[in-house]
Amino acid sequence: MIQVDQALSIIAQNSAKMPVKKIKVGKALGYVLAETIYSPIDMPPFRQSAMDGYAFVHTDLNTLSVVSSSQAGDYQNIKLSKDQAVRIFTGAYVPDDADTVVMQEHTTATGNAVVIDKFPAPFANIRKQGEQIQKGQLVLEKNTIITAAAIGFFACLGITLIKVYSKPKVAILVTGNELVRPGKKLAKGKIFESNSVMLQAALKEVGIKKPTIFRVKDSLKATTKIIESCLTQFDILLISGGISVGDYDFVKEALLQNGVEELFYKINQKPGKPLFFGKKDKQLVFALPGNPASSLTCFYVYALPALKKRLGFTDIHLPKMNRKITSAFHNNTAKTLFLKGFYNDETVTVLESQSSAMLNTFAVANCFIYIPHTVENVAQQQEIQIIPFS
Ligand code: AMP
Ligand code: MG
Repeated sequence: MIQVDQALSIIAQNSAKMPVKKIKVGKALGYVLAETIYSPIDMPPFRQSAMDGYAFVHTDLNTLSVVSSSQAGDYQNIKLSKDQAVRIFTGAYVPDDADTVVMQEHTTATGNAVVIDKFPAPFANIRKQGEQIQKGQLVLEKNTIITAAAIGFFACLGITLIKVYSKPKVAILVTGNELVRPGKKLAKGKIFESNSVMLQAALKEVGIKKPTIFRVKDSLKATTKIIESCLTQFDILLISGGISVGDYDFVKEALLQNGVEELFYKINQKPGKPLFFGKKDKQLVFALPGNPASSLTCFYVYALPALKKRLGFTDIHLPKMNRKITSAFHNNTAKTLFLKGFYNDETVTVLESQSSAMLNTFAVANCFIYIPHTVENVAQQQEIQIIPFS
């Protein structure tokens, strides 16, 4: 049995980045950039008006004759003298001769002339060529997570294809004779299967939208066979249940029979002690405990960082924060605890019912309260670490 920190470092060491692929910018949301990108153009590509108004050569004359009009998208080679102006609109090309734009609200139009009521400073209201970024300058660095704004930034520079780390193919293998899919009739002795749909939802949080779900009965032969097939097709295999010490828990043996290397089995923690982590080549296997709260805890704390590492993320763990605990807590287990808690701006409360078999508390919790195995007593109002998950 190992400690939580050891388990986390073994996972980080053994989770290789996925291969790099080129994708269309419009499909890149949530991916991690696998190359540093430099701008192919100046942006703006020309001097743009930042206002609706009049472009002119800065002058003391307050009445100018309006000789032309420049709309966004137009280009005209307009010559201007000191007593002339061009009607101009936001985003339009500023005639080469002009150096200033006066906003419409500071002028009065009179026939073919305009009176400047309030003079702008020289060079006002013009966005310089390359003001946002110049050709050859850094757009975004390798390992940046691609957001909607980043996609917009690429697009405004005319970038259509970028290199990202591909997403791993994930399978969820559900074990257990007692399990019935929600929506089916619940016979005596059976329970509804909830881990697959829960893990599917949690996977969406890192952009893994369609894991493949497999189901298997508690049989060594059938479990070995399905794991063999999963290992040839998927980069990450999440197995639910069958990893404890019961007579019908066959997952560990089936994994070893398939040549999966055991990197650790069992962590000194509650919930989620019987977690197995192994690998075969670059494929990773997490055999998660069947108890639903244990399963989800192990997913967040261990499987999620592995997924993030493979996806190219640099910060792979859920961030920790400090809060004052609202009541004293005693840890007599000598295990690290991931308690379900509810935090606000200042405090955190340990929720009732911490059973690993139940999701009723987890469903209203917004964080884990992290109590290291070395800590026996926490006093009321003591600052402790929490790990928000929503
Ligand atoms: P196991 O780890 O297979 O011994 O399962 C531990 C407990 O979790 C048992 O009470 C199982 O019935 C329950 N369990 C296992 N898998 C699931 C699942 N997919 N959905 C809901 N409960 C499960
Ligand atoms: Mg089972």
